[in-house]
Amino acid sequence: MRTLAVVGGGAVGLAVAWRAAEAGWTVTVFDPAPGSGASFVAGGMLAPLSEGWPGEDRVLAFGAAALAEWPAFAERLRAVTGESVFVAEQTLTVALDAADAADLRTVSDWLAGFGHDLRVLDRAGVRAIEPALARTVRAGLLATTEPAVDNRRVLHALRAACAAAGVEIRAEAVAALAELPHDRIVLAAGAHSAELWPGLPVRPVKGEILRLRRRAGVSPPPSRVIRARVHGRHVYLVPRADGIVLGATQYEAGHDTTVTVGGVRDLIADAETILPGIAEYELAEANAGSRPCTPDNLPLLGPLDERVVAATGHGRNGMLTLALTAAVLPALLDGQTPPVAEAVSPHRFPASSMLSSPGGVR
Ligand SMILES: Cc1cc2nc3c(=O)[nH]c(=O)nc-3n(C[C@H](O)[C@H](O)[C@H](O)COP(=O)(O)OP(=O)(O)OC[C@H]3O[C@@H](n4cnc5c(N)ncnc54)[C@H](O)[C@@H]3O)c2cc1C
Repeated sequence: MRTLAVVGGGAVGLAVAWRAAEAGWTVTVFDPAPGSGASFVAGGMLAPLSEGWPGEDRVLAFGAAALAEWPAFAERLRAVTGESVFVAEQTLTVALDAADAADLRTVSDWLAGFGHDLRVLDRAGVRAIEPALARTVRAGLLATTEPAVDNRRVLHALRAACAAAGVEIRAEAVAALAELPHDRIVLAAGAHSAELWPGLPVRPVKGEILRLRRRAGVSPPPSRVIRARVHGRHVYLVPRADGIVLGATQYEAGHDTTVTVGGVRDLIADAETILPGIAEYELAEANAGSRPCTPDNLPLLGPLDERVVAATGHGRNGMLTLALTAAVLPALLDGQTPPVAEAVSPHRFPASSMLSSPGGVR
């Protein structure tokens, strides 16, 4: 049997481990704290269209391909574990002023050029489908094909799927890839990946995020993901069975994951602007995580040398793109590059220090 070490037990590493085990590999996942990284704090939006912007064509193409992969991925997960992970079926981006409303039309026109038809709604149209939103909301862009998942349910289900497929999970950190005796290695250490492969263009981008619980007698959360820009800052509300996930700040702060007073204040103030009733919810959790970001906002999927394959750099879209990552990894491990993986090859970056490893593995 061919042996595979997966370094990193976040959602990406677990998804890869599961599918590789099903493809016949004997898989061991190494992680000192599996499922405790960005995958644990995330919002769970699967929104490549609503997050798109003219010019970001390659990010859109990969994100749309990942979105298309999700139904089969979720169905397989449900068949193996009995767990269903979806929490919303649609995404609504709302505009509070004329400039934001014009941006929604710009995005809608750009997406239509790629065959993605989103509906622009006026004030009445928004209120008709989400009556709890503020009266100051003047327009909306409805993506009927963009769902959301509960990221923690995804992690739970992936651990169960890994167990069913015979994956061993070891609560150990890997200090150097060269120490691993396995036939192949998948580097899936999220924002810490460059520590194991110096020069890899993956950096941490901090995000703070809140979990709000609905109290008795308080109106229910919106049924869709709601996204907006308030005072130039992006804010989103993702429904959960018991409330709302409210995210997220975004800034460069190294590996710092402290939750700051300013971050919490801005998130709550911005959310209240679009959903006034949120003030009645319980503030249940405040977390921060590190998004594993790359310079072009696409992941790194593919061989780094003859033994190591990268599955990292999923940035702010890792919950979205993990389904496609898991689908292509078995082929990448067999030395093939499916067409969809060409755009995300690590080789798109200059072959500087990253791809010239004298010892083969570092
Ligand atoms: C606030 C926030 C909100 C987000 N919202 C969304 C969203 O709505 N939709 C979306 O698609 N994406 C979202 N993301 C992005 C998404 O969470 C990430 O892209 C994704 O979780 C990355 O998964 P991962 O498995 O690569 O990383 P992680 O989940 O961070 O896992 C990496 C793992 O590697 C382990 N590790 C590190 N070093 C070592 C080592 N030396 N040896 C062994 N193990 C090691 C860590 O312990 C960790 O468990 C969000 C991220 C943040 C921070």
